[in-house]
Amino acid sequence: MKIISSHCDNCGAPLEIPVRARRVTCLFCESVLDVIRTDSVVTTQVIEELRSRIEKTERDLQSIEVREQLRRYDESWAQYRRTFRAHKSEGRVTTKGEAEGMILFGGAIMILGVLVFAFVPPVGAPLLALGIAPLLVGLILRPDAIRYQRARGKFVMGRRRLSEKLKELREDAAPERS
Ligand SMILES: [Zn+2]
Repeated sequence: MKIISSHCDNCGAPLEIPVRARRVTCLFCESVLDVIRTDSVVTTQVIEELRSRIEKTERDLQSIEVREQLRRYDESWAQYRRTFRAHKSEGRVTTKGEAEGMILFGGAIMILGVLVFAFVPPVGAPLLALGIAPLLVGLILRPDAIRYQRARGKFVMGRRRLSEKLKELREDAAPERS
């Protein structure tokens, strides 16, 4: 069988093409190629690459979509977390432990106030008043802090799912030749 030397249209590797062949597969990049004969020159043209290009485009579009989902997810979380009373202006949120600390602190001062009040009322009364604020704030923030913790746990899990999806799409794309 007579053989003609040519090269792959996709990767440029040398190709041995049987003289009557209409279609060949490149041994290097596995592109399926149409054999094109013009006068005395034999060239090849990629067929399969088109399909893999479409697949790559689909994956790219999916990646963009998932990235957009992630962005919206983060955005809505940032908005939602502001609705918690436990939210502080600098982005921190009062934790359950901190709220309970306030309750204990306020409660202890009030108990002390009651004890002192029995002996020295003018000192006990202001102590009692002093303990009310932290106790109330702690009581108000504690359920909110618990709700926040749960919501945050859900958010972190949902976000991880999306990032893993994005990572998979990128790994699928990785073996693709550049
Ligand atoms: Zn090739």
